[in-house]
Amino acid sequence: MRKMLTNAGLALCLWSGLATGSAAAVHGVAPAQDAKAAEEEKRDEFILGNIVFVLFHEFGHALVSEFELPVLGREEDAVDRFATFLLTPEGGEDEESDPSTILIDSMRGWFAASERTELAEIEWWDEHGPDQQRAYQIACLLYGADPKKFGAMADEVKLPEARKESCPSEAESNSGSWIKVAKPHVLGDDEKPPKRIEVTYGPAGDYALERDLLKESELLEGVAAELTKTFRLPRKLTIAARKCGEPNAFWDSEAAEVQICYELLREYRELYDQQKR
Ligand SMILES: [Zn+2]
Repeated sequence: MRKMLTNAGLALCLWSGLATGSAAAVHGVAPAQDAKAAEEEKRDEFILGNIVFVLFHEFGHALVSEFELPVLGREEDAVDRFATFLLTPEGGEDEESDPSTILIDSMRGWFAASERTELAEIEWWDEHGPDQQRAYQIACLLYGADPKKFGAMADEVKLPEARKESCPSEAESNSGSWIKVAKPHVLGDDEKPPKRIEVTYGPAGDYALERDLLKESELLEGVAAELTKTFRLPRKLTIAARKCGEPNAFWDSEAAEVQICYELLREYRELYDQQKR
């Protein structure tokens, strides 16, 4: 897993965790017992897949701040590209363990979110790129990593031929850059992690469904364990799932905490239903 940054090894591990912790476990039904259960399972996978992307995005911020990594360009783009790098398959994965399904769900999440905003309402001053651009960034890097495998996906989202041309070199530059800056902070094979990443769950309030889905999937614990084993962290970090008053996620450097809001899971549930309509 530590052969380069972590890349597919980490994603693979997460994906198998996701598969076992999905709707079947949460709702206590056999997979595909009926159409409704199968749909619920797909929706839960969509929600959790998007949460994985968000979690890696926030961890990108955490790594930039903990290891004082150089950021050349907009940090929000850089950490989206970090999440994309971690979830890009290296090739050879079987269907079950292919992390690109998480990335594609995440791309669909950004496209669905973009439909909620009128052109005139786009906040061009925002530190993040517009949702549709974040979706296309994933599409380009994924296509660039394996044009043959992801050609149909790129066509489906209408990634223009002219844009496609530079995607392979962008994907290569992205993975090469992240490997280069992160490598000095990756633990050696015989090295013990100096600090751990812990997971906490705050009170659910009106978000019991979301909290239970997250908790029973053991997704956060899986990510925490893998990242703990991967990086030489200078201090203990926490992944805190909690109610925040808004559908969002944060890296709080003062508290050394990645925060995932229950509200965000509900938002992804709504986005899933929206794109099904
Ligand atoms: Zn961010």
